[in-house]
Amino acid sequence: MLLLDYLLLPADLPSRRKAFVKTHFGFILFTFLAFFSSCQNKTHFMKLEGRAQGTTYRILYFCEDSLSYKEQADSLLRQLDQSLSTYNPGSIISRINRNDSTVMVDHHFIQVFNKSMEVAERTDGSFDITVAPIVNAYGFGFTEKQNINSAVIDSLLRLVDYKMVQLKGMKLTKANPRIMLDFNAIAQGYSVDVLASYLENKGIEDYLVELGGEVKAKGTKENDEPWRVGIDRPEESIATEGTLQGVVKLKNKAMATSGNYKRYYEENGQKYAHIIDPSTGYPAKHNMLSASVITTDCMTADAYATAFMVMGVEKSKSFLAKNRDLGIDVFFIYEDDAGLKTYMSEGLRTLIQEIP
Ligand code: AMP
Ligand code: MG
Repeated sequence: MLLLDYLLLPADLPSRRKAFVKTHFGFILFTFLAFFSSCQNKTHFMKLEGRAQGTTYRILYFCEDSLSYKEQADSLLRQLDQSLSTYNPGSIISRINRNDSTVMVDHHFIQVFNKSMEVAERTDGSFDITVAPIVNAYGFGFTEKQNINSAVIDSLLRLVDYKMVQLKGMKLTKANPRIMLDFNAIAQGYSVDVLASYLENKGIEDYLVELGGEVKAKGTKENDEPWRVGIDRPEESIATEGTLQGVVKLKNKAMATSGNYKRYYEENGQKYAHIIDPSTGYPAKHNMLSASVITTDCMTADAYATAFMVMGVEKSKSFLAKNRDLGIDVFFIYEDDAGLKTYMSEGLRTLIQEIP
């Protein structure tokens, strides 16, 4: 109304316009500030932090009302744990692993199971959630470590094949009761997606969700700056832990990283790492040190990051060339005779800044 009054003043009366501005200066200034801050839609910056799934989470977002969703995030994470965690004896996956005949799957289980089957098909079993008995035997799972020898591995390998499990309605069927499932290579990514869509349903358009290193970011930070996420340099030594190999600008994308350099042990001079090649039953062994995958959802990124650790650099590159329709980008850190090397797919060239 005030602007209309101003415009309606006769144009040949500049002095009356000047006087008008003088009288209403405070109000005009307030209106301008309010207008610009509402355009930004970034009145409040919120940071939620906590622990879940044996790791930490961080949720950063901008909003107009400074509402904290910490309790809701914790409650969602507990719900996910009740479905997908092999470390929670009462969860749906644990009850399926114990062959509890009364257990029915839930929405979360179905989402993660279906994606696991899709990635297993695409990667010809490099990603396989039925790898659980072998992960357990090496001591990286939810049961006691066993004494490993080739006979043990061969007998356990008979229980590993994603084609031997199926969802029929709300029930999971197994070809052999000794088959067990492990969602640890995909559940964190899925949890990030669940938290992100919760924020989106609350009308939040600028956020970053991070759980155990898996991330999803939407919109921008203050001043329209992109969210930036670091990729760790694969270091086994505590002294050099925490240094970065690169920084990625993430906009409306998710990123997950898999690496064999953090979870491993040595026994009789032999190194055992937690990512298993389901075709051999032995830990994936080659020069790939860390695989980061960037795509629209974190569950897909998480599953493929693990699959690429199994495939190694060369096989992963030819897989990517044949599967362009997946729309995934990768950043690999690997080792050759000359030392650490990196590879990035075309789509990342303008988004990754490597640190020498
Ligand atoms: P991530 O850190 O996402 O790569 O997940 C690694 C975890 O996934 C391991 O600790 C195992 O519990 C499980 N895992 C190991 N090998 C495989 C595999 N080939 N396919 C699916 N899950 C796996
Ligand atoms: Mg993974």
